[in-house]
This record gives sequence, C-alpha cells and structure tokens, in this order.
Amino acid sequence: MQFSSPPYVTGLKCLICGATYAHGNVFTCPRCGIEGILDVQYDYSKIDNSQFTIHNSPLNIWRYNNLLPVSPDLHPPHLHVGWTPVYDAKRLAKHLGVRKLFIKDDGRNPSNSFKDRASSVGVMKALEFGYKTIACASTGNAASSLACMSAAVGLQSYIFVPARAPEPKVTQLLIFGATVIKVQGTYEQAFDLCREACEKFGWYNRNSGTNPFLVEGKKTAGLEIAEQMKDDVPDWVVVSVGDGCTIGGIGKGLQEMKRLGVITGVPKLLGVQAEGAKPMYEAFYSGKELVPSDTNTIADSIAVGTPRNWRRAIHQIRQSNGEMITVSDEEILEAMRATARLGGVFGEPAGIASAAGLKKALAQNMIKPHESALVVVTGNGLKDIQSAKQAAGEALSIAPNLDALANALSEKLGM
Ligand SMILES: *Cc1c(COP(=O)(O)O)cnc(C)c1O
Ligand SMILES: [Zn+2]
Repeated sequence: MQFSSPPYVTGLKCLICGATYAHGNVFTCPRCGIEGILDVQYDYSKIDNSQFTIHNSPLNIWRYNNLLPVSPDLHPPHLHVGWTPVYDAKRLAKHLGVRKLFIKDDGRNPSNSFKDRASSVGVMKALEFGYKTIACASTGNAASSLACMSAAVGLQSYIFVPARAPEPKVTQLLIFGATVIKVQGTYEQAFDLCREACEKFGWYNRNSGTNPFLVEGKKTAGLEIAEQMKDDVPDWVVVSVGDGCTIGGIGKGLQEMKRLGVITGVPKLLGVQAEGAKPMYEAFYSGKELVPSDTNTIADSIAVGTPRNWRRAIHQIRQSNGEMITVSDEEILEAMRATARLGGVFGEPAGIASAAGLKKALAQNMIKPHESALVVVTGNGLKDIQSAKQAAGEALSIAPNLDALANALSEKLGM
C-alpha cells in the first residue's frame, strides 16, 4: 500500500553542509555521514495558523499535523500524546526567588515521558514506509515509549537497552510486548548495535539522533508552549539535555510559532546537563567541536557521552540567546524534593534536572529574579524508584498503638 507524503514537507536539509534531499525513508546526509543530521523543511507560506485557534482542533499533538511530517492517509495512535498541562507553581517560584515559574508536566504522556511525542511520529513513519518492525536503542524512556506506541498501532518492537537501565523502565517495555535486548555495555554500544541490526534485518530505526522525523515530534512541546503561553510568554524555557533532540526540537517549535505569528518573541533556552555528563556544555562554551565524555550521574536519561544532535541543540540555544548550565546529583535530588513538595510534580532525575538548573541559574544571576521561566519536566518520578528513594527519605515504622506513634513523632519529627 502507498500512502501520500506529508503535504507541507518540502524536503530534508543537512545541518552541516546544507545539502537538501527529497522527503523519503532517509536518515543522515550521505555526504557528511552519521554526523549529518537532516532537518525537515516545510512550506510555511501554505500553513494556516488559524488551526491553532480553532476550538475543535484535537487537544493533543495532532492539532499540529500540518507542521508534522506525517501522511494524511494514516491514523495516528489512539493514545493521548502531548498538550500536557502547564502549571503556575507559585510556592516553588517563591522558594526559588523567581517572579513566575511554570511547570510543563510531560510525565503525563501515555508512557510517562516526553519521548511519546517522538515515538508517536516514529511509528507513523514506519507504517508509511511499509515496515512491520521498529527498533531503537535507549537509556529507557525512548524505548518504553516506542514499545507503548508500537502496541497502539500494531508494530513489533525490538529494544536495545544498556545494562544499567532502571528496572521500572525495562518492565514497561516488557508489558507492552517489546522484545528487549539487554546489551552488556554502554548506551553508545547499544546504539551502534541497534543501527547495525536495523540494516541487517530490515527494521525501521527509531533512534532520534539520526532519524530526522522524530525531532519533529519533540518539536510539538515547543509549539504547545507557544500556544499555551502566548499571552504570557516566559522569558526562559528550561530543558534537560542528553542527545540534544529535546531542546533542539523545542527550539524549532518555538521558532516556527514565531514565524506563523502565534508569538512575537522566542523565549531564551536554558539547557541543563548533569555534571557527570556534560560534553554539550563544554562544546557550547568552548565553541569547538564536541568531545565525547564518560558519564556518571543518577539522571540516566541524560547520561549521554556521545550526543547525536549536539549541533542542532547548540544552534537552537544560541539562536534564542540562551545559556547552558550543569547540576550535580545532589542538586538534582534536592530539586526532586522541592518540585514535589512545593510544586506537586514528581519527576525522574533527568526530568527534574531542569528545575535544578533553574535554581542554579538564579543563584548565578544568569536568570534574574524579575524574569519568568517555564521548566519542562520530561519524565515521571515513578520511572526510577531507586533514585526517588534517595531523594524521599524513609517512612516511620511503628507498633500499632498510640504510644508508639507519639514516641516516633517526638523522636523523628521533634513534635
Ligand atoms: C531523553 C530524555 C531527556 C533528554 O532528551 P535528549 O533529546 O536526549 O536531549 C530528558 N529527560 C528525559 C526524562 C528523557 O527521557
Ligand atoms: Zn551534509
């Protein structure tokens, strides 16, 4: 079966050499190799922005279908992806000393992370190109999200995970029916093996670094932020950074909404990396080519030593007049507590690194107290119970009587 192409996509353009290619089943630029990430191009003059204000547009990422590289002949997965809530978190704002603080909770997607935005587009491209099987290598969330979206549309999924992937994420994969391959090695090794396996066995490769269509799904968070916040556009949008597809996508979405006249200015992007995995931060401030690094952080979803989409990420951060910052594991754990206790949102370490980065940026006067910021929480806290326990502390354990309770309260809580 043949499906018609996405109507507004004009082609794909290499982010390094600028060569353009027709829309189709392509990955990186043949001239530039694996580094030559392709960017999907649209004819914006044909796209009508009134669809974003039409009340009957669906309240999910498909309200932006004209800005997505998807065939109009295909039904998207039936699950609710995107249009995640933005909260005005007043208590947390006061605690951090910033005028306004918004939390966009992307842990509320179907598989509980931001990655559902990309995977939902990924499975549609696999169907469009006639595949029955899709694969990815992931630190966890891209995988659980791909397994979930594959289940929704009826694709088989093969997932390569590094040995240290947290157990709840692996359990998610298995319950959605994915074939899970634990690679006794790093994320980088799992990534390379997946790419080779896709070539050998004819599977569609969902790896968001090299697949040009997935970042378009991630872009929807930027489109949403613009639309949800158009009356009070925040000065900063704060995003944690691993491969760089998330912040690169959000930046592209915000730029598109400016171009389409939905917002007049684009917020500055603050990219947050873990101190134990900061190759992008180094490249951003050195202005040199990225040097791969070792990784050591509890924020497993951003523990990326060889980021695939660093050029796009750095380009978008610079274009927004943004900055980068790094946070320690202790700062992440502290931010997990503060965001939960003062904001009511429970995120996983990588999901909360953004909030930790905001706190540090305020302390360094990079973000000013009179400014406003939107923090994207990219994954739910139940994804990684081990780390959550480190942040949360212990329950009181007592005999079933009031004396024991009174003793425990006076000892532990000083009541
Ligand atoms: C993947 C992921 C990120 C980072 O996205 P990149 O595209 O790798 O930069 C951040 N937080 C969570 C929870 C993720 O799963
Ligand atoms: Zn190229």
